[in-house]
Amino acid sequence: MHAGATYLYAGGMDTLNDLLSPAPIDPGLYIVSTPIGNLEDVTLRALRILRDANAIACEDTRTTLRLVQRYGLCRTLLPYHEHNARQALPGILRRLADGEAVALVSDAGTPLVSDPGYRLVEAALDAGHPVIPIPGPSAMLAGLVAAGLPTDRFFFAGFLPNRQAARRAALEELAAIPGTLVFYESPGRAADTLADIAAVLGDRPACLARELTKRFEEWRRGAAAELAAGAEAEPPRGECVIMVGPPSAESQAVALADIDTMLRAALAHDSVRDAAAAVAEATGQKRRQVYARALELAKALAEPPDP
Ligand code: SAM
Repeated sequence: MHAGATYLYAGGMDTLNDLLSPAPIDPGLYIVSTPIGNLEDVTLRALRILRDANAIACEDTRTTLRLVQRYGLCRTLLPYHEHNARQALPGILRRLADGEAVALVSDAGTPLVSDPGYRLVEAALDAGHPVIPIPGPSAMLAGLVAAGLPTDRFFFAGFLPNRQAARRAALEELAAIPGTLVFYESPGRAADTLADIAAVLGDRPACLARELTKRFEEWRRGAAAELAAGAEAEPPRGECVIMVGPPSAESQAVALADIDTMLRAALAHDSVRDAAAAVAEATGQKRRQVYARALELAKALAEPPDP
């Protein structure tokens, strides 16, 4: 037997109850990740916190009750969702001020990731309360790690706008990002979104991950246009994450050439500072980098041509 395994089991296998034995829980706001489908995807620490907290603030009490009943967790559920956040906030802050431990969960995955909670975290920190993350599932990371796309740099863009013009404008803003893009999407819009991705970002490698951790989990990998055609022919049902690979080196080189052209045009009538600011704004590139390039171009333009 492997030495590590011998050591691990030397004292006999821990039961779930041993693993979850009562441990004092400090007061504070706990941001607890919960399953995105499969109820087994919950950490021991999450279960202990959700069992021992004084209250659980949750989006939909019916959804959270399923987890509570399955594992015998705290039954004091406080509704906290986007429509009542303002009214519910003072009550939760009062509990924290009274020294309680309050857990925040969302319907699925990690709270605050395209889900409510940011205002609560901000208010808790402002009031001097500890905020403690209890990490676990999130559809964004579950999708990313098995998509087969680069993971060294990625940009989580959440939900794209519903209307096509706004969606395409949002995609244009993201086009130059040198990393994998990750989107959440409702099944009804996946085909339209993939078509816009192919039209605006070009035919990059992409992946659609559907119903992650659930019975009908499905992966569709291929060029964005292929996935768009597939989604049109056979619309994906259930929740999905869409991922798109980074721009190719050639298209990035073209983008840099475009920046030079825009800078030269702007430098014809603007100062270096104004030209750089305008081009950085229009392209979404870092202001400092565009300014450095504008300085180089302005210097070259000012030098007399070789005789
Ligand atoms: N906070 C959650 C998280 O950490 O993943 C996300 C909440 S957001 C309101 C819901 C979206 O997440 C869905 O529309 C879908 O895009 C994605 N999602 C959630 N569960 C999923 C699953 N099991 N499979 C694929 N996508 C999922």
